[in-house]
Amino acid sequence: MKNPINRRTFLRVGAMTGLASGIPINALADNDMAKAAKEEGVKRYVTLGRTGLKISDISFGSSRLRNGQEHLVRHALDRGVNYYDTAESYTRGVSEVVVGNALKGDRDRVHIATKSHVGPDDSADQIMERLETSLGKLQTDYVDIFFNHAVNEVERLKNGAWFEFIEKAKRQGKIRFSGFSGHAGRLTDCIDYAVEQDMVDALLVATNFGEDPSFYEEVYERLTKGFDFVAKQQALPDSLARAKAKNVGIVAMKVLRGAKLNDMRPYEAAGATYAQAAFKWVLKNPNVDAAIISMTSTDDIDEYLGGSGGQAVSETDMELLHQYAQMTDMTYCRHVCNDCEGACPYNVSIGEVLRTRMYATDYGDFGFAKAEYQQLEHNATPCLSCDGAPCRDACTHNIKIADLCGLTHQLLS
Ligand code: SF4
Ligand code: SF4
Repeated sequence: MKNPINRRTFLRVGAMTGLASGIPINALADNDMAKAAKEEGVKRYVTLGRTGLKISDISFGSSRLRNGQEHLVRHALDRGVNYYDTAESYTRGVSEVVVGNALKGDRDRVHIATKSHVGPDDSADQIMERLETSLGKLQTDYVDIFFNHAVNEVERLKNGAWFEFIEKAKRQGKIRFSGFSGHAGRLTDCIDYAVEQDMVDALLVATNFGEDPSFYEEVYERLTKGFDFVAKQQALPDSLARAKAKNVGIVAMKVLRGAKLNDMRPYEAAGATYAQAAFKWVLKNPNVDAAIISMTSTDDIDEYLGGSGGQAVSETDMELLHQYAQMTDMTYCRHVCNDCEGACPYNVSIGEVLRTRMYATDYGDFGFAKAEYQQLEHNATPCLSCDGAPCRDACTHNIKIADLCGLTHQLLS
């Protein structure tokens, strides 16, 4: 039986064979299909800074991994992905269990990172207990990297118990390397502090073309005018360069900027996909070693890995990134930037509400979005009877908070 051809394979094969310019699909030879399938795998392994770990340049993020999805992890493994990132909190602990189930027979072929939210007052024993719970779920004796999760305050990095824990866990062979993950807000302060203190082997950092000042410079040089917004992470490139100079391994996340992939399909006729362009943008940065992305279907995995090995951003790639930025800039909530914190007198968790909106409208995952929305302690119910005045100017990214929060409530409640 011939392999079924999906749209993304068509786009990739089309780009290779000229198919997109008119050769009928059924004229595609099986060896072309085989070639395309092979090219969907990882094409480049990189050294993750001082850790020395050799990891796939595009690797497995598991923030949305659910029960029964071991096959996704296995699919990525079959395609050459050897770095798996999870966290104790992802899908309420299910993610670690699924990663553990899927990889238990292949532990020596892969690298696993997990995370725990360590506060400024947590004790070393508490952190150790959480690590051991994670190890149990992951069915392994050690993790390659243990991250302090979503650090946005330097105070959390100053907790002496963290150092005590790291030293002990390394000595006991339960972790090999340590670091922290961070998203926005005071991220650069945290990176600078950690690098000055020489306290991290690796960092997991939210970065993408839309937060990169050099993207906007390129757009002005290479594309059209009328592009008048500015990157919000002006200091991040310098912080990453300082970290790299100390040989800290750097993994990028949030590379797709909300991953509104379906909205980009009409613009991908030339064969490249938006996702692949976004990966290439991040991976061409000499201060970024690799990227992770939530992998939620086998089609997505194949598409994402089509960007592996690519560091040259073509004109077509730039046009896709430009198109995406124009389409989404006014609705993309950098949900952990939290610049709007405290703006709502009714305590709506604005960033969290908009995070669930992203799952529904960008990822198209309504089940997950609803489940997450239902868990929110302070959802957007008050937005239905509020005139929106208190939060009108609260977003530093010009998002219309009242409109989007109200719509999210209607969509997900
Ligand atoms: S619309 Fe009103 S209730 Fe909703 S987030 Fe804004 S201030 Fe809060
Ligand atoms: S609404 Fe704006 S300020 Fe608030 S978290 Fe999102 S991007 Fe940041």
